Amino acid sequence: MRWYLHVDMDAFFVSVERALDPVLRDKAVIVGGTRARGVVTSASYEARKYGVCSGMPGYQARRLCPNAIFLPTRHDLYREFSDKIFAILHRYSPIVHKLSIDEGLVDLTGTERLWGLPLHSSQEILLRLRRELGLPASGGLSGNPMIAKVVAGLAKPSGLAYVPHGSEEALLSPLPVAAIPGIGPKSENMLLQQGLRTVGSLLRRDDFRQRFLRPYDQARETGAGDHSIGAETTLEVSLSDLSSMERVLGALVEEIGGRLRDEGVRACRITIKIRYDDFKTVTRSHTIGVPTCFDREILAVARWLLRKNLVSGKKVRLLGVNVGGLRASGWQESLFNFSRRHAWENLYRSIDCIRQRYGDHTIAIASSRAKEE
Ligand SMILES: [Mg+2]
Repeated sequence: MRWYLHVDMDAFFVSVERALDPVLRDKAVIVGGTRARGVVTSASYEARKYGVCSGMPGYQARRLCPNAIFLPTRHDLYREFSDKIFAILHRYSPIVHKLSIDEGLVDLTGTERLWGLPLHSSQEILLRLRRELGLPASGGLSGNPMIAKVVAGLAKPSGLAYVPHGSEEALLSPLPVAAIPGIGPKSENMLLQQGLRTVGSLLRRDDFRQRFLRPYDQARETGAGDHSIGAETTLEVSLSDLSSMERVLGALVEEIGGRLRDEGVRACRITIKIRYDDFKTVTRSHTIGVPTCFDREILAVARWLLRKNLVSGKKVRLLGVNVGGLRASGWQESLFNFSRRHAWENLYRSIDCIRQRYGDHTIAIASSRAKEE
């Protein structure tokens, strides 16, 4: 079963300022709009009560809420905190999509064995953000990334909304169409003119239904093939350092990624095999929510599995990677990362062409060779 946690920080810029200066707590705080033509970039909930919102000109915010504390926008600082947030999210899953400076989608599919039930790990993630960084966040947990985002918005501030599989439609139906991410005032008007007021009325139309509910429907499909694609190598010299092992994984993943793309299939399950010098062998698997054929995504999971399972100090004599749960391409893409993945697809297609023409070792993606991404 797929699980996505959408994490959205509450009044992010204001919260960062508050984490550094507790005097600002519980007060109306507005970031941005300090200069003559500046606009509000973030407003605390106390200031929002007066009608202040981000994007509003500073002078207007000052008129609505004259007692607010105005602070200049410090983008470098917020970026630093953003990196810390995503470092925490990455502890829980190898697949984290950064949607903006303060919004991320964590693919919790298949993490139960490590972190417990997705609802439990979601709570823990939000708590950790608050404890370690002093930042409040809201979360939405669902089998569908778009719905996870919608309910994270409903859970604000500092809440966690959970949508059990099968209850998506009932939950979405009464909401106004504007609740759907990507439906701005223009599209909203157009839909209203067609008499479409609620998400329920949208879902009665097949094209929308496909778009919004498909990722969940797909989870019930049982078309996953039995066969798998793998590569392994016995090392000339046994290794004990992680970075050399990761380079070996990188090479194995490049081979596998090429074969996946060749066959026009994508994989949901990634397995690594580690054989130690004493011939003790372990295999560990992880299942991801959206099937992939991209080296970068497969390698992220393989490295994560290696780091989690490697017995430190023991020498390794063989490493292997295997991918299974194969599906034909042409699967429905989630709304969020379509264009990004499309760009990768083109990139990998050209890499495969070059490799076919000039040999496997002529080209490699820099990040698959690098120690850290
Ligand atoms: Mg936010």
